Parts: sequence; structure tokens; C-alpha cells
Amino acid sequence: MKSLDRSAQLFARAQKVTPGGVHSPVRAFKGVGGVPPFIESAQGAYLQDVDGQRYLDFCMSWGPMIFGHQDPDVAVAATDAIARGCSFGAAESGSLELAELIVSHIPWAEKVRFVNSGTEAVMSAIRVARGATGRSKLLKFDGCYHGHADAMLVRAGSGLADMATPDSAGVPAGTAADTLVAPLNDLAAVEQIFADYGAEIAAVIIEPVPANNGLLLQQQNYLQGVVDIARAAGALVIFDEVISGFRLAFGGAAERFGIAPDLVTYGKVIGGGFPVGAYAGRADLLDHVAPVGDVYQAGTLSANPVAMSAGLATLKKLLAQSPYAALEEKTRALAANIITAGKQHSTLPVSVQTIGSLFWIVLGEVLTDDGQVRTPTQIPALHKDLFVPLFHGLLDRGFYLSPSAFEVGFLSAAHSPDQLSGFVQAFGETLSEVPA
Ligand code: PMP
Repeated sequence: MKSLDRSAQLFARAQKVTPGGVHSPVRAFKGVGGVPPFIESAQGAYLQDVDGQRYLDFCMSWGPMIFGHQDPDVAVAATDAIARGCSFGAAESGSLELAELIVSHIPWAEKVRFVNSGTEAVMSAIRVARGATGRSKLLKFDGCYHGHADAMLVRAGSGLADMATPDSAGVPAGTAADTLVAPLNDLAAVEQIFADYGAEIAAVIIEPVPANNGLLLQQQNYLQGVVDIARAAGALVIFDEVISGFRLAFGGAAERFGIAPDLVTYGKVIGGGFPVGAYAGRADLLDHVAPVGDVYQAGTLSANPVAMSAGLATLKKLLAQSPYAALEEKTRALAANIITAGKQHSTLPVSVQTIGSLFWIVLGEVLTDDGQVRTPTQIPALHKDLFVPLFHGLLDRGFYLSPSAFEVGFLSAAHSPDQLSGFVQAFGETLSEVPA
């Protein structure tokens, strides 16, 4: 085992002053155990920890770093912006340029408002939906994460969708009561909920590519069906594209599936590694937002000029280079090679679900008809436990997967075929040590 002495010391100190020693829970390695390496720097596809170890990174800050760490174009844009001032709290043109870029390339984003995180984007979009429709209820899906706004911290009760119970302490039951939860991949359940509550539902919110509970790939006809049912009842459709936006295609999953939402939320890639979120959509809906309309939403650091510059550099580069086909090809090859290595080194069933540059390694037998995991309950029972030794074996060999069995992997333009071959080899070696 490699030494994580300095990380361990820092982790012990951090736990005294911060809950769990971290500022976002999964970073504490609770799902995999052990000491999280404290990261000192990152470059390209690599992370470097305070103990001098280097890791090929598949977490990529949970998605933003689509061109890799310290991409020179993004870094220069941010540094130049700092030289002009870190924050103005006033009208400025950086956010205008970024907004125009988005609005001119994404037809369903007729207007956009920048915020500071994906959570804020979702929280604001649902407020707009409620304000615009005058309705209170929201429908979300079991297995979709939408950030930590109270109304979104709920999941389904058992069986078919019903009134939800809070998923977190501190969320009032009254807040949760307005959030209905449906299972994914089940249109009949959505129809039933709309039959029961249709006139009260302001919006349906969905990750069109659910990527927070494994990668639960949904089919186009299912997504279209959800949209049709919602619209028939006068409810709005919010696509949460915090992960998929600008990553699967410039226009995200909506572009890929050919479905235009009424409102869409962005985060991660849009800020080039800085804290940026955005909500966008039909102009008549965005015009409900203050100062034009009566839906209040504001932010001291919203559209921060440094973050806007990094986002603009990232999005311009995405438009100029359109790396999507190459990223997808690389990800598919990685998945195929992981499966082959798995077969060579172990009797454990290994599959890999991918879309675009997202991948999720599934350990254990998938028992669905088409071999795809589309709902949380279809995740093999052994997956969670098998992931732990796999994760640590890979970490020890210098490969940093997202530290949870239920988080996806992200490839960037900076991951080279050689680096990925090294990963596949290490994957095989590690898997051979995991008891089947
Ligand atoms: N929605 C989705 C789909 C996400 O994946 C996330 C974060 N992983 C969020 C919302 C919340 O974004 P943030 O962490 O920036 O608040």
C-alpha cells in the first residue's frame, strides 16, 4: 500500500473543524472507507496528492473538467479575468457573452440566468415553474439527484410513486409533501401520478441521463413519453443537465435525444471548474424572474467575472473543437476493453454502461432482459460491496475513480489512449484480486 501519511494527518485535522473533514460528503470516502488522498495539484488527466502520489483521474472534479485539469485556454482566461478584478457585483459583459453563446446555440434556451451551483439552478428553476404555473407539486424520479434544495431531497416510498418522505433530516415534511416521486423507466407510473395529481403538478424534473445513482440510461421513447404526459396536463418539463449539459453534446441530452425541455439547468462544465450554475428556457418563463417578473432570485457572486471567463473559454473551445464524437469513441473503447480485461482476469460478471464521455462499471450479474441497468433496483446486489476492493486496488495503483459505487466516471479530452490502456491493465490485475 502506498503511504497516505500526510493525507491522514490532514484528514484527522480536518475532521476536528469540518463535518467529516470535507465540504461535500462523498469526498470523505465513506462509501469506500479509508483515507481520502488530499490533492495538492492537478494537470491534464492527473491528480497529485500531498504524499507525492499521482493518480489518473476519472472523477474530474465530478464532471466540469472536460478538457482536463489546467487546460491552458481556460487557465489563461481565468487569470486574465483576475487581473481585471475578482468581482464587481454590477452589470458586466462577460456574462452577456456567455449568455449569448448559449442562447444562440441551444434553441430551447431562449434566456438564461447564471447562479453559483447546480443546486441553485434547480432550486430557481422549480421556483420559476411554480411561479409561472401557479401550481405547487413537483414530480421527480427515484434515482435522480438534483442537488440539495429541500424540495429535491426526497425519494419514493416503496412500490409505486406516492407522497414522498424526506431523505434528509432538516427537510420539513410539508416541503417533501409537494414532491412526488416516480420510478424511472415506467411510463405507466407517470400516467398514474398525473391521473391522481395532474392539475396540481407544476413541473416534472428529470435528469435525462440519470448519472447520480449509477448511470441509469433511459430510452428516447420513455423520455418523450414523460414529456408528452406532463405537457398534456399543463405541467412544465425541466431537464436537469447539470452533468449532461455541454458534455454529451453542446446542447446536452436534450440535443442528443431531440427533445426540447421548457426549462433546463446547467452546472459543472458551464463554469470550466469554477462555481457556476445556470437555468435557462422559454423566454416567457424566464421573464417571470425578478426584476422583470415576480419570482425572486438573486446572488452576490452570481455571474462572477472570473468564473464567467473560464466558462466562456470552455464553451468556446467546445464549439471550436466539438470533441464529442472523439470522447464518445474513446469511452466506448475503454468500456469494451474493461469488459475484455474483466473476462480475462476474473469470473465476476463485469459490464460497463456508457453514454458520451460518461461511464459506469457495474460489478455483478445484471438480471434485466436487455442487460441494461435502468433503475436503482436493477443494480446487482453485490455491486456495492465488490466496488470497495476494486476502488482501493486501483487507487493504490494510481487510478482515481469517483469514490462511490454509485458515481459515474468522466473522461476528458486530456485522457490519452496510453493512459487508458494502463488503466485497463490495472483494472484486470485488481479484479483478479477481488474474490468472485
Ligand atoms: N443536478 C445534478 C444532475 C447533479 O449531478 C448535481 C451535482 N452532482 C446537482 C444537480 C447539484 O449541483 P451542485 O453540486 O453544483 O450544487
